[in-house]
Amino acid sequence: MNTNFISKLYSAIALGMLLIASVVSATEVNIYSARKEDLIKPILQEFEKKSGIEVNLITGKADALLQRLISEGKNSPADILITTDAGRLYRAKNANVLQSITSDVLVDSIPEQYRDPEGYWYGLTLRARPIVYALDRVKPEQLSTYEALTDSKWKQKICIRSSDNIYNQSLIASFLAHWGEEKTLAWTSSLVKNFARPPQGGDRDQIKAVASGQCDIALVNNYYLGNMLTSKDESEVEAAKKVKIYWPNQEDRGAHVNISGAAITTSSKNQAAAIQLLEYLVSDTTQQWYAEKNLEYPIKPGIQPSEILQSWGEFKADSLSLHQLGEYNAKAVIIMDQAQWK
Ligand code: FE
Repeated sequence: MNTNFISKLYSAIALGMLLIASVVSATEVNIYSARKEDLIKPILQEFEKKSGIEVNLITGKADALLQRLISEGKNSPADILITTDAGRLYRAKNANVLQSITSDVLVDSIPEQYRDPEGYWYGLTLRARPIVYALDRVKPEQLSTYEALTDSKWKQKICIRSSDNIYNQSLIASFLAHWGEEKTLAWTSSLVKNFARPPQGGDRDQIKAVASGQCDIALVNNYYLGNMLTSKDESEVEAAKKVKIYWPNQEDRGAHVNISGAAITTSSKNQAAAIQLLEYLVSDTTQQWYAEKNLEYPIKPGIQPSEILQSWGEFKADSLSLHQLGEYNAKAVIIMDQAQWK
């Protein structure tokens, strides 16, 4: 072999390595996230440092981001969709903007009921939708189950947000999965009769209404109460201190839970890097930080929730497979309409 050939071979190898290196360093992941930037940015920066993969974050409202993904179709720059509620993730899957992926790390870290059975989406954090009650007017002994909220003793005592909100739709969808249509319609109609006022505002507003005496009980996602308790706004802290969480259905199926989650888009051009990022989001330290920052529960078993969440005590969660919340969503919307839940 002549030296000229060897030197050519070496330079070819060097050029090849250079190309590979430039491809690797050019790897990036684009995220469409319905979560606020400060709730996720520090984790993404940590990931960038560890992996050398550049992460671009676009945040927006959940429904608007999904619409954007749908209209961009195959040309979307997005690799990952991060959003809240299994009902929404199911919608995204049905709209054909997500792709199925396999990952042992994700499967081993996330309990089966909190991920899509076909691998289209994966839960990242867990939130519960328990009862909150007025400390000065309700005794916990008066409470028991979601079912019992239709008792006439709660007439004009219940506050809850409107039926166009996905959290309530998913709650009703869970009842459809457990009870069937007839019982769910009867329960929903009776619950509406116990409303203290026409549905209005978000979950924080329901907590404030209980605190101010407009109603005695409300159904809210746990992190809203957590966020009010840790708020810089003293009036929010004061309101939050006037209510307490009650975990319903602890003797039977458990309290209703939902997730925030992530998925890889159909349009993704950086699939391997995107999977690597999702795997990073279920690592122990990330799970701890992310759930703590959002005041949600870690999705990975064995990770401690934040101190505030621990102070509410442990609870039994409904073990329903959450893709069913999506399957029953359309029916839930019809039932809420029939029950005249505004
Ligand atoms: Fe929320």
